[in-house]
Amino acid sequence: MSERRQGRDDGEGQGLNARIVATGADLLRGLAGEKPSLFQRDRWVGRIMDWSLGNAEFRTRLLRFVDVFPALSTSRALSHHLKEYFGDMGGPAPGPLRWAMGAASGPLAAPFLAKVIRYSIEKLGHQFIIGDTSERAMKSLSRIRSEGCAFSLDILGEAVVSEDEAEAYAGQYAVLIRDLRGAEGKWPALAGGGESRDALDWGYAPAISISLKPSSLHSQIRPQNFEGSVEAVLRRLRPLYEQLIEARGAMCIDMESYAYKGISLGVYKALRKEYPGYRDLSIAMQAYLRDTGADVEDLLAWSEKHGLPVGIRLVKGAYWDYEVVRARQNGWVIPVYTEKAETDAAFERLARLVLEHHDTAYLAAGTHNIRSIAAVLELAAQAHTPSDRYEFQVLYGMAEPVRRVLLDRVGRVRLYCPCGPIVPGMAYLVRRLLENTANQSFLRLMFSEGTDAGDLLRDPAEAVEKARAPQASTARKARALAAPPSSDLPPFENQPPADFTREDERDRFREALARVRQKLGRTYPLFINGEDRATEETEASTNPADPSEVIGWVCQARRIEADEAIAAASSAFERWRNTDASTRASYLLKAAGHLRARRFELAAWQVLEIGKQWDQASADVAEAIDFLEYYAREMERLGSPRLLPSPPGERNYSLYEARGVAVVIAPWNFPLAISCGMVSAAIVTGNCVVYKPSPLTPIIGRHLVEAFSDALLPAGVFNYVPGRTGEIAEYLIDHGAVSTIAFTGSTDVGLRIIEKAASTRQGQFQVKRVICEMGGKNAIIIDEDADLDEAVPGVLVSAFGFQGQKCSSCSRVIVVGAIYDVFVERLMGAAKSLALGPAEDPAFALGPVVDDRARSRILSYIEVGDKEGRVLFQGEAPEGRNYVPVTILGDIEIGHRVAQEEIFGPVLAVMRAATFEEALDKANATRFALTGGVFSRSPDHLEAARRSFRVGNLYLNRHITGALVGRQPFGGFKLSGLGTKAGGAEYLLHFMDPRVVTENIARKGFVPEADLEDPC
Ligand SMILES: Cc1cc2nc3c(=O)[nH]c(=O)nc-3n(C[C@H](O)[C@H](O)[C@H](O)COP(=O)(O)OP(=O)(O)OC[C@H]3O[C@@H](n4cnc5c(N)ncnc54)[C@H](O)[C@@H]3O)c2cc1C
Repeated sequence: MSERRQGRDDGEGQGLNARIVATGADLLRGLAGEKPSLFQRDRWVGRIMDWSLGNAEFRTRLLRFVDVFPALSTSRALSHHLKEYFGDMGGPAPGPLRWAMGAASGPLAAPFLAKVIRYSIEKLGHQFIIGDTSERAMKSLSRIRSEGCAFSLDILGEAVVSEDEAEAYAGQYAVLIRDLRGAEGKWPALAGGGESRDALDWGYAPAISISLKPSSLHSQIRPQNFEGSVEAVLRRLRPLYEQLIEARGAMCIDMESYAYKGISLGVYKALRKEYPGYRDLSIAMQAYLRDTGADVEDLLAWSEKHGLPVGIRLVKGAYWDYEVVRARQNGWVIPVYTEKAETDAAFERLARLVLEHHDTAYLAAGTHNIRSIAAVLELAAQAHTPSDRYEFQVLYGMAEPVRRVLLDRVGRVRLYCPCGPIVPGMAYLVRRLLENTANQSFLRLMFSEGTDAGDLLRDPAEAVEKARAPQASTARKARALAAPPSSDLPPFENQPPADFTREDERDRFREALARVRQKLGRTYPLFINGEDRATEETEASTNPADPSEVIGWVCQARRIEADEAIAAASSAFERWRNTDASTRASYLLKAAGHLRARRFELAAWQVLEIGKQWDQASADVAEAIDFLEYYAREMERLGSPRLLPSPPGERNYSLYEARGVAVVIAPWNFPLAISCGMVSAAIVTGNCVVYKPSPLTPIIGRHLVEAFSDALLPAGVFNYVPGRTGEIAEYLIDHGAVSTIAFTGSTDVGLRIIEKAASTRQGQFQVKRVICEMGGKNAIIIDEDADLDEAVPGVLVSAFGFQGQKCSSCSRVIVVGAIYDVFVERLMGAAKSLALGPAEDPAFALGPVVDDRARSRILSYIEVGDKEGRVLFQGEAPEGRNYVPVTILGDIEIGHRVAQEEIFGPVLAVMRAATFEEALDKANATRFALTGGVFSRSPDHLEAARRSFRVGNLYLNRHITGALVGRQPFGGFKLSGLGTKAGGAEYLLHFMDPRVVTENIARKGFVPEADLEDPC
């Protein structure tokens, strides 16, 4: 940009900013010291807010208490939780809380206390929620309209876990539209609308307006199934929209979390196109998203191209904390701005864009921030936007003075009004409380902190500029501090799985599937001593969704090739173990680079060879990369000798050394990740590997050959010998030249390997070591106060993800007390909503089981379960092939076979427990100890689970599958394994022998001076 132009822009910008500040100051004067009821300390709600703002600890506890409150159905539960949540709070507690705590301890007061708390929380709810019944909502709307405001009505309740719930939710909207139609006749049009019966608000806007969340209309929204999800939402939305058109109403599609953004926009465009003549349809756009600038431009261009005017409700975004946490957990780029000023500046930029396109776009500015409001007013004046092309919107209960001043100065104000039962609407209430008590909330700064007008009205773009320079150096500093001192490698970070909310990632996956399809039917040789080795005998590897489809032909190793592989590994060993640890690690890093470059294709192979869904397959590849990256760093750490306590004149070092030839026998369920984990651990520690993939996934296994060849790993260090388990595996295990066996698979096979490895053969010079990960009979406990909106999907994904074929899968769910019926009903509804079909098609949540043998075995367990207890629910499954219907068994007792034996399929046993302690006893009462989970909001119960739920990996308030390398080292004990934790800091030690070297460094009594001064 030329200097002249820059100068003109700055001049223009400064002029605009001065006008915005002047208008803002005028609006602030108009507030005339009034406070929103939220911040009035003489009101109960205001007092609660006041305590929350002044005490971060109390705020956290209060939010959590409000969150659990709907689940507390008895007075006992209520007073118990009150004590748990607030009992140990240090510092001065607010008076009523002290009173409540005292009452909670008294013997007779519990019911009375429960009443008081219920009343208080409901009162808090009433602050933000317009009515719990349609009748009350209509009354409130009449009042709101008589005060001069328009409304947009939203029905509370967002988490639908099943299609039945989504259907019911759509039904509620149908009733609401009908009731609004009935009530509308009593409402005169708002100012400027004229007197006639058909008059519109402000002369152009329908009186009836609803807001709606797409995710509430379909329980199976999955970003990877983009088109299917859009269509499913539309199926429920179309009839509502038609009903609304008849009622001459307006609709706004709310914007939810980032994962649903593309789908919501897809729904909006589709609906707009299908009903081109009806223009009262808008969509919320969130200024805090970095993508929104491009999205708004795209929407405006789309609108012009198709001649379809659009409505945009511009908001800043209500899910900031969630988006940051979710992106960090997955290693994705954070989709939102991280400086508040950036969001504020984006809001102004976007408002300007929409206002300038007023011919085709209508702006609803949804904000309570006076600076943002003033900016919209001045930008509208500058763009000559007619007054009937924009309005302001505020949330009910949030900022009454702001709404009043807007009404005085602008006139066109719409209130966003949530309605519905208050108790289930707690999620909304919690979000509002979070928003109002956040440090940077405008309302808090203005009405609670008393920030001065100059700061409140400062140009956010200026603040962004200022913040930029020091930020860059801070980031550099942070990076420098985070770097490990002993290695040039950056710290380990998990490989992010594919983010299917992104269109380009979905396209890449589709293209990868097409590419892999072109490669079907090839023949794959063995790989021994650095060379491919074909054999005459080949076996077909087939697609579990269609066993007649051959994925490829795989050469079969016999004993002679097994001997060759062991010989190659043995002769490579001496050199390889003497290769320094950093060099060995570097091969893993190169292999990781190879997998990363091919991650979509490697996932696509899994979809076809083993029936993994897109996201599951992508996660498996990411985990394989993680193992390579993590173990490379671990070896750097363990690779140098470590000095032990040494008195003067003596030096003691400990070091680790490779054991020799390692046989790796891999499972089919994590065909790349687990193979890669065991193989890379053996290789990086200096062992040479003979790898036998599962006969069900030999082609995925073969990709490790490509990865290590690409990394130029020396010949003989890695050998690939697919073959029949009975013939080859047994032979390898018994072989006298083998020192280590790494196995992951069923408990029966694992125990047999341990037994065989224990017998030492003639001529064998080393005791074999077995590293063994085996089965599980994993349980999730659902406590009486669990959040079922989280627990039901959590159990569902843990039990049925990848058809329940993970060793970490949940196969028992133990439900405490009175929550049983409602939990089971919602779980069955959710299970019914899962569609079964080929994993290639992302419309299907579940796919086939691995083969016909597995299918028969699982079906026979279902028969056993039906005799021991009863089938509570069985889903539908396509005929023939390898599909098994999702099955939930009820009335199961701890002694039943289906409660004790590993089934490895989509079968879940539900059990009852009277108390949490009983649930823990039942959870522990099996031979296994692999994974387990608890959904509870009782701090005491969570603590009890930490102490006594004895499994290798315990998950609290989340699903129990999907352990991540480095973050959740994985593996169990009892008959689940030997306590070796894959992806953890101790794992590599199992592949090595420890040695200690002691040296006398004194020579004829002479000790180096430094040694005397600085003894270790
Ligand atoms: C009528 C109406 C409808 C709404 N509909 C939706 C909707 O469909 N979807 C939705 O998500 N929200 C919606 N909201 C909520 C809205 O997104 C804001 O959360 C809320 O209005 C607060 O913004 P503000 O401008 O009033 O307040 P301000 O205090 O000026 O802004 C607060 C906002 O700034 C952002 N922010 C806070 N901290 C940071 C940070 N560190 N870095 C970057 N940004 C930060 C957040 O978005 C936060 O909500 C709606 C709001 C209104 C008024």
